Amino acid sequence: MSVSKCTRLSGALVKQLLDSVDSILFDCDGVIWRGDQAIPGAPQVINLLKENGKRVFFVTNNSTKSRKMYADKMTALGFDVTEDEVFGTAYCCAMYLKTVCKLEGKVYLIGSNAMRQELEAVGIQQTGVGPDHICGKPIDWANVPLDPEVKAVVVGFDEHFSYMKLNRAMQYLTQQGCLFVGTNRDTRLPLEGGKAVPGTGCLLQAVETAAQREAQTVGKPNHFMFDCVASQFGVKADRCLMVGDRLDTDILLGSNCGLKTLLTLTGVSTVADAEAHQKSGCPERQGMVPDYYVESIADLLPALQG
Ligand SMILES: [Mg+2]
Repeated sequence: MSVSKCTRLSGALVKQLLDSVDSILFDCDGVIWRGDQAIPGAPQVINLLKENGKRVFFVTNNSTKSRKMYADKMTALGFDVTEDEVFGTAYCCAMYLKTVCKLEGKVYLIGSNAMRQELEAVGIQQTGVGPDHICGKPIDWANVPLDPEVKAVVVGFDEHFSYMKLNRAMQYLTQQGCLFVGTNRDTRLPLEGGKAVPGTGCLLQAVETAAQREAQTVGKPNHFMFDCVASQFGVKADRCLMVGDRLDTDILLGSNCGLKTLLTLTGVSTVADAEAHQKSGCPERQGMVPDYYVESIADLLPALQG
């Protein structure tokens, strides 16, 4: 197809695009659901894609849920989904430590119970999840007790993040050979009504600043998330479509991996945002310009029902 970038996907173009791919990666929040509500028509789209023989996968930077928790949520919302089709950063982080780093030792985890579960599922022990209270007496901060078996610091979303955790992470990271992995760099999590809360990127940056080291991240836009799907299911980049609502994570992941890209307008980014990147003429920003956009993924329905 020779159409210019950031083209509105409609009419015959929808079927043309779907015919050109075997696999479709969907971001979750702002794409197939918003908070606890499915985007209208999204379950039908996903289920029909699968009935039409497409492989469908879900890739999310949110590290607060395990694969099972995602599959349960999706099933409750009407999506025909299995656990092995879900690639969240909690799971991908565990896979990264296991398969790429070949970690031998424990993880000091700034993160959630879901991350602990995914680490344990691949046989990696952790310490650190949950609150790390400070006791009454004066603390010798530079000499807090450390677990000698810890060989990696992992940072994901952690509602119990604290100065004590930041300090502990820094002490581990100044030790020889300690690995440093983050789930993702999203700085804000948008909520309904225009509100937002700090994202994992804020916590990761705090730890990086303290440790004076840069973490390797596994989440979008880093290609590891696609590698994870591709290696398990034999997905070919040139026969794959990435659908997302964020230009700086979803669309950039697609561009980084050579996938076709589709922006949906039910979430964070707008067509004006995409056009601003396109018109900037800045080569580094072109990866954030999607091939196509739709108002909602429900716009794919007519092509699937016809
Ligand atoms: Mg999203």
